[in-house]
Amino acid sequence: MPANLWEALEAASRELSSVSETARLDAEVLLAHVIGKNRAYLRAWPERLLQGDEEQRFLASIAARARGVPVAYLTGVREFWSRSFKVCPDVLIPRPETELLVELAVEAASRRNRPRILDLGTGSGVIAVTLALECPDAEVWAVDVSESALAMARHNAAALGAETVRFLRGTWFAPLPAGIRFDLIVSNPPYVSPTDPHLLRGDLRYEPRQALVSAKDGLHDIALIAENAGPYLLPDGRVMIEHGFDQADAVATVLGELGYRDVRHHRDLHGHERVTAA
Ligand code: GLN
Repeated sequence: MPANLWEALEAASRELSSVSETARLDAEVLLAHVIGKNRAYLRAWPERLLQGDEEQRFLASIAARARGVPVAYLTGVREFWSRSFKVCPDVLIPRPETELLVELAVEAASRRNRPRILDLGTGSGVIAVTLALECPDAEVWAVDVSESALAMARHNAAALGAETVRFLRGTWFAPLPAGIRFDLIVSNPPYVSPTDPHLLRGDLRYEPRQALVSAKDGLHDIALIAENAGPYLLPDGRVMIEHGFDQADAVATVLGELGYRDVRHHRDLHGHERVTAA
């Protein structure tokens, strides 16, 4: 006998309870995705039967989730700044912490006239696209080394109406035209240490290593960006970099040694110093 929505959710949350701290939520998001409805619908129609191939598709997605595949890769979408972005395993899944970086950049951009902004390592494009939409007079550039990430970012820019973002492929500053200077350079670079045990557990196992991991305790790419940003910054320009919850002091040291002034840390919703601006 086919299961109804409520029964399917009960069974799936039990199955996921040992692998996910958000088992019930995961099951609801995946079931809503499979039947093409939102989560409120599941509560409104608990006795609705699964039809056609829905049960089989739901069970397959629960099995994948039980193996650790992140929910966002199974649904192909993730919310960021109240907008829905497409994601795939070639891009990091956008995190709420990164909204802090965007918030700081929006604030800094709003104090400037027609600011030019650069997003390094754009991934799914959440930062660049959100900045272009929130700061309509800004000129936003976005760089990524991964062609498939850029395809995803371009898709998101077009789908959300941010066609003005200029996407370039290459390593950090390499693809930029000579002589260009920015008011703001923002980045959520890879910053996880190669020896971080979290890489062996949970969702991180399925995310692109290139987007997560950086040498020298996770600081290599942040240092590279900081070392090379100078020629691309306007005299009163600022860099804003996301980093690990325990990297604020190390990042400040790197920036200080390179002669950056006005180094400031900003705390995320968990109270961690997550973004450093200079
Ligand atoms: N915030 C991510 C994590 O620790 C890492 C993101 C990144 O390396 N840019 O799960």
